[in-house]
Amino acid sequence: MSGKDKVLILGANGQIGTELTQFLRARHGVNAVIASDLRVPDRPQEGPFRILDVLDREAIYELVEYERITQVYLLAALLSATSEKNPEFAWRLNMDGLFNVLNCARDCPSLEKVFWPSSIAVFGPGTPREATPQDTVMDPNTVYGISKLAGERWCEYYFQRYEVDVRSLRYPGLIGYKSLPGGGTTDYAVDIFHHALAPARRYECFLQPDACLPMMYMEDAIRATVQLMDAPAEQIKIRSSYNIGALSFTPAEIAAQIQSFIPNFVVNYSTDFRQAIADSWPSSIDDSAARQDWGWQPEYDLVRMTEEMLQNIPLQFPASPLEG
Ligand code: NAD
Repeated sequence: MSGKDKVLILGANGQIGTELTQFLRARHGVNAVIASDLRVPDRPQEGPFRILDVLDREAIYELVEYERITQVYLLAALLSATSEKNPEFAWRLNMDGLFNVLNCARDCPSLEKVFWPSSIAVFGPGTPREATPQDTVMDPNTVYGISKLAGERWCEYYFQRYEVDVRSLRYPGLIGYKSLPGGGTTDYAVDIFHHALAPARRYECFLQPDACLPMMYMEDAIRATVQLMDAPAEQIKIRSSYNIGALSFTPAEIAAQIQSFIPNFVVNYSTDFRQAIADSWPSSIDDSAARQDWGWQPEYDLVRMTEEMLQNIPLQFPASPLEG
């Protein structure tokens, strides 16, 4: 990102948007980054904010043209667990939101680059689960995964056909302390910390103790995102979406890690429909293409991530968000 860049973040109030907005504003100045979402954020923040619905194509075009936006980060979507409750709406939001942004990048001369996140949900029961390759069987059986896989194909199509500079990562489950998760299958790995720090010191996990999934600390995810967007276009060899990995663990493993700091923390297991979603996803990811093409390298392991989560949640949420 250079001094002339102006960024628009769509879906900025969510788990990733909250942190990405802060990161980009700290780096490039508060006024260089316009945050937007369906509603104003819960906590007041410094910097420009607009109410904007990603399904409102005209409003997106108007804002991009008026503000001469050069980069869009499209984060508004329905996540995996929420999508299963409303498949048709999930398809509409996840696809039409993407079309609106891709078309805007094709049609509006100021808009040079788009970031759109995919997910490990693009994989399915036929995919090799260990060290899942970049190119492999992709047979998602959730509406969320289907929308992400279709989105990947459209990103590549818009790059090939219209030269839209769209870049994408297949995020694993993301874990951060600055906001609460938004309805995904890996949400347990954030919730578990809030429950460990709450007075009852108890958590009922909706996945099985041995459900191993790929995960990433938010600091790493934000760094990967910005590194991908900063890379020269010729280094971006994959225009569908890059595999990126960091760590993999089970609920039992993260519970044990938290218990090494909070010995009286108790976890019980009572699975729901999200276990079936987890069963269809990889347990670890081969991200060698991202490492080779633009130098991806994760920094956080389970121990360091656990320490930071336990230190920072009480500062970020002085009153437990689980109360009331
Ligand atoms: P989130 O649910 O926390 O945030 C999404 C935000 O989008 C919310 O603030 C919501 O109000 C907003 N939004 C919803 N509908 C909108 C609309 N019509 N117009 C404008 N804003 C709207 O999601 P997140 O965890 O921040 O995820 C962001 C993106 O990253 C999504 O595409 C998601 O699929 C992807 N992703 C996330 C994870 C993860 O673990 N969080 C993993 C893989 C991929």
